[in-house]
Amino acid sequence: MQYPDYHDLGFGITRIDTGLIRPGFASCYLMAHEGRLAVIETGTGQTVAKVLKLINELGYEASAVDYVIITHVHLDHAGGAGGLMDALPEARLVVHPRGARHMQDPSKLQAGAIAVYGEKIYYRDYGELIPIPEERMIIAEDNTAVDLAGRQLRIFDTPGHARHHFCVYDEASRGIFTGDTLGIVYPELCENGKSFVLPTTTPVQFEPDAFKESIDRLMALKPQYFFLTHYGMVEASESHADQLKQQIDDYVRIALKHKDNQASRLGSIAADLLEYTLERLRNYGSSLEENRMRQLIAGDMALNAQGLEVWLQKNNDEQS
Ligand SMILES: [Zn+2]
Repeated sequence: MQYPDYHDLGFGITRIDTGLIRPGFASCYLMAHEGRLAVIETGTGQTVAKVLKLINELGYEASAVDYVIITHVHLDHAGGAGGLMDALPEARLVVHPRGARHMQDPSKLQAGAIAVYGEKIYYRDYGELIPIPEERMIIAEDNTAVDLAGRQLRIFDTPGHARHHFCVYDEASRGIFTGDTLGIVYPELCENGKSFVLPTTTPVQFEPDAFKESIDRLMALKPQYFFLTHYGMVEASESHADQLKQQIDDYVRIALKHKDNQASRLGSIAADLLEYTLERLRNYGSSLEENRMRQLIAGDMALNAQGLEVWLQKNNDEQS
């Protein structure tokens, strides 16, 4: 199977397929160092058992986990945090200051996700969220160092995709756990070892300038690898970052083109994003059939359009 439940990446890091949507869609990670563990990203409530099974298979007790680290509180990244914290007695949740209260009382988060995905898909994919007591949290400001048995992880505040987003730099691998800041690379869209990168502008806190600044800040670390949530480990490159920044600019241009048609613009933006990305795939040299391309990107294009619609409402409508 191309996207097994567990895949050893070296550096003491195992990629876990969260089981969300389809194999190869969303990953989370287990990091082991000197007998201690960190879970980075959690997947959803349905991922919890998979993470615990891996910990057990590698010969560790649940009490060996020091940290559960979430890049932000969107549920494909943090939906399993409450279930994991219940099962991992020594673990502390490392969370962005703007995400902490949502982990403590997830009711708003749940309502927000239902508003984005609809009730049916929400309950199919995510389920009820489990609150986490504040005393079990490390609220990580920018530049916080997290020590995993001597292995240093550093937290970088990275707004742009969401204001409650940070990334995690691992000195040992010179890798960054990127959450959604360095985009999406679906392995099914990639050929000849070349990444095809998409930005994710999910509602409701897309901020294009902050987004590009966050990307530049991460690239200044001269990373070797990106540990993407969507999906897996890829070689870090300037071209990856440039492709993302270019698309963020083009997304903004597409959104602004439709800004005056408030009633119909969401559909127009979604249609334009889809055509724009199909064109990029053709230019990339994709050998996939057009229907397959559409299938693989349609969900993200709809979400990205929703994020741009919210951005227009916040930044344009109120001024005009
Ligand atoms: Zn997100």
